[in-house]
Amino acid sequence: MSECGANYNRLNDEIRSLCKDAGRDESECTLIAVSKTKPVDLIKDAYAAGCRDFGENYVQELVDKIHQLPGDIRWHMIGHLQTNKVKYIVGKTYLIHSVDSIKLAREIGKISVKNGVISDILLEVNVAKEESKFGFLPEELEGAVREMSSIEGISIRGLMTSAPICDDPEENRVYFRNMKQLSIDIKKQNIDNIHMDILSMGMSGDYETAVQEGASYVRIGTAIFGARDYSDHK
Ligand SMILES: *Cc1c(COP(=O)(O)O)cnc(C)c1O
Repeated sequence: MSECGANYNRLNDEIRSLCKDAGRDESECTLIAVSKTKPVDLIKDAYAAGCRDFGENYVQELVDKIHQLPGDIRWHMIGHLQTNKVKYIVGKTYLIHSVDSIKLAREIGKISVKNGVISDILLEVNVAKEESKFGFLPEELEGAVREMSSIEGISIRGLMTSAPICDDPEENRVYFRNMKQLSIDIKKQNIDNIHMDILSMGMSGDYETAVQEGASYVRIGTAIFGARDYSDHK
């Protein structure tokens, strides 16, 4: 077994047992292997261990990798997406996690209608209100959701966040709990085309608490593939 494969299996087992301990079904949380900047060979290692969900941040890299890898992979777009690049990924990704503006949602809708598909999307929330981060602020989310509910070609499936970088996963528990509450509050409004059945949160540094607080996807890169080197990237 490759190192990435072993890491993937160990994390997958851990996530299952975290679910059980939290009184959740094992199937309620899926591990996405975040493969940005990592070569196709390492993705194949994780694939051989059973991983079918991979996350990428950059459109060009994502498109290149899709062509080189098996067709049963579910590709998750998790990075900031510019409206002018939407056309390259619609119909190719399983889920777009990082929808951070109404304008972007409209563009995804427009291209999806043109291609005869419905794109599943998540809305990115800047839950800790960090200056450096993209995403809707918690207090503007409900208004934005109402505005987006009429957009054709998209299905709003839930929320995504990247919590602050932390030394102790416990520090982010409050943010994950707030995310869960936000999704419950919006679900209760019963707005057309708004489902709120997916919560994407938790990374290498804080996935334990995210699973305990209700994550349906955790996005893990470093703990599977090792540290990233951006020096020869773009
Ligand atoms: C890179 C990235 C991850 C993975 O982060 P790790 O700390 O390496 O696990 C998860 N989510 C997003 C949005 C990312 O950009």
